[in-house]
Amino acid sequence: MHAWVVNPPVSGVHLEKVPDPAPGPDEVKVRVLECGLCGTDREIVAGRYGSPPPGRKGLVLGHENFGEVVEVGRSVQDLRVGDEVVATVRRGCGICRFCRTQRSDFCETGLFTERGIKGRDGYLAEFYVDRPEYLVRVPRPHRLSAVLLEPLSVAEKAVQQAKRILDRSELTPGCDAGRPRKALVVGTGAMGMLSALVLAAEGFEVTAMDPRGEKTSASTVLSGIGAKYRDGSPGLSVLGSERFDLVLEAAGSAALDFELTTLLAPNGCLLLLGLPGDIGKPFPLAGGEIVQRLVLQNQAIVGSVNANRRYFELGLRHLTAFRRRWGTVAEQLVSQRLPWTDFESVVTGRRPSGIKCVLTIGG
Ligand SMILES: [Zn+2]
Ligand SMILES: [Zn+2]
Repeated sequence: MHAWVVNPPVSGVHLEKVPDPAPGPDEVKVRVLECGLCGTDREIVAGRYGSPPPGRKGLVLGHENFGEVVEVGRSVQDLRVGDEVVATVRRGCGICRFCRTQRSDFCETGLFTERGIKGRDGYLAEFYVDRPEYLVRVPRPHRLSAVLLEPLSVAEKAVQQAKRILDRSELTPGCDAGRPRKALVVGTGAMGMLSALVLAAEGFEVTAMDPRGEKTSASTVLSGIGAKYRDGSPGLSVLGSERFDLVLEAAGSAALDFELTTLLAPNGCLLLLGLPGDIGKPFPLAGGEIVQRLVLQNQAIVGSVNANRRYFELGLRHLTAFRRRWGTVAEQLVSQRLPWTDFESVVTGRRPSGIKCVLTIGG
C-alpha cells in the first residue's frame, strides 16, 4: 500500500510503498477515507517534532482520521466490516496509574506513543490496523464531520477541564443562574472553532477572537451559532472592558497568553491549548502584577493536551447536538477537501487559507 512517510528530524515528506498491514485475531483493518491536516503535521514535516517507531527511520504521518472497517480479526466482537470509525491517537505507557485506567492523556511518565506523531505509525496511509478499544464507531449522519472528531476530542477535554475549575466554588459566577458564563476563545483555526461550538452548546456566551485577523469563514460560522467574532489584529483593546469567566487560548503565543490574564473575570480560568510558536524568544513580563491578580481574584491558569476515548464519545454526542441546533455547522469547518496526492504541496505551503483542510485517501 502507499503512505506518506517522514524521517524525523529530517524535513520533508514522501509518498512511499510500505507493507500492507494484516490484522491479528484481536485487531481490525481499516481503509482510511479521510485525514485532517493540522499544525502538528506541519511541525513534523518541517523536522521540528515527531519520532519514528523504535528501530526505524520512517514514520507514517497523520493523526486526524476517518475510515471504514474492511477486515475483522476472529476474536473481535464489537466491530463489523463496513463500520465507519475514528481511531484515537495516544497509546498509553502501560506503567503509570493513568495509562492503566484508559486515561493516557494524563500520562505521568511521558513514555506514551502517539500514532502519526511519536513512535507509532499514523493514518495517512491506505490502511491501518488497530484494536477495537482504540476505535470509535461513527453513526452515518456524522460521516462528513467525522474527520473532525480527533481535534474535537481535544476541545472537549479542554472545556470539561475548564468547567471543573470554574465549578470549584458553587458560587462561581454562572453557577448561581444569575447570568450565563462568558467565554473568550482566542484563535479561530479548527481548534478554536471546535472549542467555540462546544462552549456554545454547553451554554456559555461565546466571543471568539482571531489575533491575526485572517479572512476565513470563521465569522460566518460564529454568527450562525450566536457567538460574537472579533478581529484581534489591533490588540486586546478591541475587547474594551469586557471580562470573561473562561479564556480558552488556541493561538500559540506565549507573550499573548500572559496578556490574556488581564481579560479574566474574578474566579476566572485561562485554559491554554496552543503550543507557543515564540519559544526561545524572551519578552518583557509584568510578572508581579499578573501573580497579584491571580491571587487576589482566585484565578487559574491551566494547560490541557490530548484526549482519551471518553472525550471522543462526548464529541460524537456534541456532533449530534450541533446538528440539532445549528444544522451543518460542523461540516462548514472543513474548508477544503483535496486528494491526498496533493499532501506535500499543502503541508509545505504557506498558512492554510481556511479553517480545516482534509485529504481524501485512495480513489
Ligand atoms: Zn491535529
Ligand atoms: Zn502513562
